[in-house]
Amino acid sequence: MKIAISSGHSTKCRGASDIIDEVDEATRVVDTVASMLFDAGIEVEKYHDTVSDDQSENLNRIVDWHNARTRDLDVSVHFNAYEHTSKPMGTECLYITQQKLAADVASAVSDAGDLINRGPKKRTDLFFLNNTAEPAVLIEVAFVDSQADVDLYRENFRWICDAIASALAGQEIVPAPEPEPEDALFQATGTCSWFGGPDDDGVSASEDLAWLETWDQVVDAGLEGYFLPTQPSGTSGLARRLDPDGPYYCACRWDYDVTPKSMLKDKDIKALVRANGRELLAQPIDWGPHEAETGRAADLSPGLMEALGIATDDEVEVIYPAPADIQPEPGERAVVKLVVTGLVDVLVNGDLVYSGQPGSRS
Ligand SMILES: [Zn+2]
Repeated sequence: MKIAISSGHSTKCRGASDIIDEVDEATRVVDTVASMLFDAGIEVEKYHDTVSDDQSENLNRIVDWHNARTRDLDVSVHFNAYEHTSKPMGTECLYITQQKLAADVASAVSDAGDLINRGPKKRTDLFFLNNTAEPAVLIEVAFVDSQADVDLYRENFRWICDAIASALAGQEIVPAPEPEPEDALFQATGTCSWFGGPDDDGVSASEDLAWLETWDQVVDAGLEGYFLPTQPSGTSGLARRLDPDGPYYCACRWDYDVTPKSMLKDKDIKALVRANGRELLAQPIDWGPHEAETGRAADLSPGLMEALGIATDDEVEVIYPAPADIQPEPGERAVVKLVVTGLVDVLVNGDLVYSGQPGSRS
């Protein structure tokens, strides 16, 4: 049994978009389903079109990719759209020859996600189903413009992916426990304290930061947003100019051989800070805590501690870089607004960029 699975549309010729974006979510579902199948020992190959910029090129490219594989089953993942509504719409699975499989997928996704089961639907007008050479199904996971569907999809993301993987494989696939991000270069666990801002008398009024010693360096790095617009009176150093209630920042005892200063000051690479069942992204801004405070693993911005619901000397974990799937898009300033215990919603500048299990990688 070998499965070829792809996301619908392309990053340059996008599908439906309303409360959530079809291409982004189909990509996430395909990645997660493929990794679940792989972990269960089922042969799988996945594909996302990031090249095509018109629909016909996109359809041909996806179908060509499928037909170039040796496989037993072709699967395309889409999200549906109709009109913006608060009402539930549901899930469906489209087929030409695979009625039973389509029925299994639709009912499994419906059960796992608590989504309305719109059932298997025979469609003879779809390029993917008409032109892939092996048995094929096209999954419409949920409606991007139904708030009820989107809420259920976010809440049950992992179970929906597990249901798709199990139905495609024809066997129950139990998702593996969440792996730690394997790309992390730095990890620290321990107690924390706060630092930075006009009220931080733990640093002198003239103290700068480990890799930011002048305002020009702050501007060059595009990190002005982490600082107050003007230097607080009676101070001259950048540590006291940090905005304690602004975008979240952190300091750890980084090893510059592993994570050099040039990397740490990159505004597009955030650290993941976990505490109290929550996860938030933060910008590395300094080296610390200093040796005198051994036992402490991290100094955090006051706003970050408040958002995590923790106080000085509470335990935190810092992972750097944060997993790629929850990093903000390059160029965006990460202003992370909300995390829900259990399942995590990460919002960057008000946009949901990640929704799922804490620490999951897709
Ligand atoms: Zn679509």
